[in-house]
Amino acid sequence: MNYRIDENGFYGKFGGAYVPEILHRCVTDLQKAYLPILESEEFKQQYRQLLRDYVGRPSPLYYARRMSERYGCRLYLKREDLNHTGAHKINNTVGQILMAKMMGKTRIIAETGAGQHGVATATVCALMDMECEIFMGATDVKRQHTNVERMKMLGARVTPVTTGNMTLSDACSQAIRDWCSHPKETFYIVGSTMGPHPYPEIVARMQSIISEELKTQLAEKEGRNWPDYLIACVGGGSNAAGTIWHYIDDSRVKICLAEAGGHGIHTDYTAATMHCGTEGIIHGARTLVMQDDDGQIKEAFTISAGLDYPGIGPMHAHLATTGRTQILAINDDEAIRAGYELTRLEGIIPAIESAHAVAALRKLTFKPEDVVVLTVSGRGDKDIETYLSHSDMAKEETDHKKTQE
Ligand SMILES: *Cc1c(COP(=O)(O)O)cnc(C)c1O
Repeated sequence: MNYRIDENGFYGKFGGAYVPEILHRCVTDLQKAYLPILESEEFKQQYRQLLRDYVGRPSPLYYARRMSERYGCRLYLKREDLNHTGAHKINNTVGQILMAKMMGKTRIIAETGAGQHGVATATVCALMDMECEIFMGATDVKRQHTNVERMKMLGARVTPVTTGNMTLSDACSQAIRDWCSHPKETFYIVGSTMGPHPYPEIVARMQSIISEELKTQLAEKEGRNWPDYLIACVGGGSNAAGTIWHYIDDSRVKICLAEAGGHGIHTDYTAATMHCGTEGIIHGARTLVMQDDDGQIKEAFTISAGLDYPGIGPMHAHLATTGRTQILAINDDEAIRAGYELTRLEGIIPAIESAHAVAALRKLTFKPEDVVVLTVSGRGDKDIETYLSHSDMAKEETDHKKTQE
């Protein structure tokens, strides 16, 4: 089975570039430019240096002793939460802004939902002295106020989007419209493994540093450079793509990805695209989409703003439908409980997105010698209020402690 992209920008039947005529030139320019840039010494040298000195890589691979005891395996956490700006997103924005510079672009645009990708983009724009405009649904502007302030402080213009449900999906559409109006000077920094070809591939390659580091780190700690299990959460799919990139063709490695179940996959309040979606086109790519019988895209619901997207990257649609990856839907309450669990057992407060991956542990059965690597995609500082509004779920952890004593 071929899991990689083909010459037309498809992963199996998913992917491609479905864009309006006016963007055709931009997209084909990027399709021609991206690989030569990524493979150039100039790019590699600058990208590696920024990842090391600015982002703080390599991110640690941490052996989680108490969690390992609880789940009966050898559990390691890949600590993307320790990166500058608090998540994996900066790996991608650092790379794409270098690409934009090398293509002679002068203006950066991006979409954001929770504001994490907006902050990571505004950050690299400050670093590189580039004009920056961030599109954000008006609902999210209200919900994620501190991230809006951070972007403004970094010098970005934040434009609220008032179409549709005024959330991430609408922000993406607005960014694409803006790109259509200023195609020549503008570079669109896409935040996840989604959008028209070559974006899913560009973002996956920028994040592949995660599994590149895993190989060296596992060899050091376990004497072999592969794990038995990889676990990550999926919104659009970028931290998951980076986590699995160097292991996709290695059948020894089982891959389990956690998508946001919301209140449950049998309710209307869900973002579990791979459980509930059907084939369709969203934001320039053929993939799995949550849509109604008329092909209208449905709104996604989850407690986690970063997973709140009715589509999924085409690479993941292919990996899931061919059976390479196992997809687990994790509901809001399961994620919150898992977030408290990691906090109380290891002293690490994960982003609620990442807590979905942690919750996957209890749905899997391990052998004691299994090496399990779980990516903590981001830190939970932004989610403290949400966690505290469900503090009844911390009780389970406290009760568990008491029974152990
Ligand atoms: C944005 C975000 C995600 C979801 O995005 P992916 O592209 O699926 O990785 C997950 N975790 C955190 C912390 C995020 O900020």
